[in-house]
Amino acid sequence: MNMAGIKKSKGVNDVKGRVAIVTGGGSGIGFATTMALSSAGAKVSVADIDGVSGALAAKKAGGIFVRADLTKQDDCKRVVEETFETYQRIDILVNNAGFQHISPISDFPEAKWKEMLDLMLTAPFLLTKYSWKYMVKQRFGRIVNISSIHGLIASPYKAAYVAAKHGLNGLTKCTALEGAAYGITANSICPSYVRTPLVDKQIEGLAKANHVKKESVLQDIILKEAAIKRLIEPEEIADLVLYLCSDSTSSVTGSTWTIDLGWTAQ
Ligand code: NAD
Repeated sequence: MNMAGIKKSKGVNDVKGRVAIVTGGGSGIGFATTMALSSAGAKVSVADIDGVSGALAAKKAGGIFVRADLTKQDDCKRVVEETFETYQRIDILVNNAGFQHISPISDFPEAKWKEMLDLMLTAPFLLTKYSWKYMVKQRFGRIVNISSIHGLIASPYKAAYVAAKHGLNGLTKCTALEGAAYGITANSICPSYVRTPLVDKQIEGLAKANHVKKESVLQDIILKEAAIKRLIEPEEIADLVLYLCSDSTSSVTGSTWTIDLGWTAQ
C-alpha cells in the first residue's frame, strides 16, 4: 500500500485465480483473449454459438464451454449461471461475440438488423446485468466490451454494426458510472481491422458495395485510412484486454481504447 491506500502493482498480468467469461471465445479476438487470460492464470468460461471451435478453445484453455446463441436472452442467463455454478465467482466479463453484414440501408434486411443489435448490444447488456450481483458481492469486476473503430466513426454499408458499436460504447460508460462504488470497471476497446475470419468474410461484400475488385479491397478499403499499413493481430487486442482486467487498472474506467493503426488520428 502507498499513502493513497492503493495496492502496489503485481504487474499487468495479475489475473491469477480470476474467473472470466469470454463470449465468442471460439475464434479470432475471443480465442486470443481466452488463451491470454488462461495463460495468465484465469479460469475461463467460453460462450459461443459454434459448438466445435468453442469447445476446442475451452479445452485448450482448461476452462469450461457453454454453448449459447447470445441473441437469446435465456442463453445469456445460462452462460452466467453455469459459470457461477462451476467456479462460484465471476470476476471478468469480455463481451466480444459479433459479426458484420455489409449492405446499403435501403437493402438492409430487417431481421439482420435485429440479430446484430441483439448480439452486439443487447447481449452485452444482459450479460452485464446477470453478472452484476456477483461482482457487487465480490467488490470486484472487470467488464471489457470489444467495440470497434466503428463505435467512434462510421463507414458506409455497415449501419447495424456502427449503430450497435456506438451503443456499446454508451453502455460501457453507464456501466462504469454505476460500477464505480463496487470496484467494477468497464472499458471499451475500439480496433480497426484485425486479422480474423470476420474480416475474411466481408471482402466480397466490401468489393460489391464499393464497386472495387476483390483483390484491391485490402489496399483500397480496409487499409485506406490506416497510417500503419497492416492488419492488427488478435493477440494485440488480447494483450490490452488482459491489461484492462488486471488489478493495475482499478482507476481506468468508462474509457474507449483505440487500437486503430492511426486511423482516427487524422
Ligand atoms: P470472429 O468471426 O473470428 O469471431 C466471432 C465469434 O463470435 C465466433 O466464435 C462466433 O461463433 C461467435 N458468435 C457469432 N454469433 C454468435 C452468437 N449468436 N452467439 C454466440 N457467439 C456467436 O470475429 P472477430 O473478428 O474475432 O470479432 C470479435 C469481436 O471483435 C466482434 O465483436 C467484432 O465486432 C469485433 N471487432 C473485430 C474487428 C476485426 O477487424 N476483426 C475489428 C473491430 C472489432
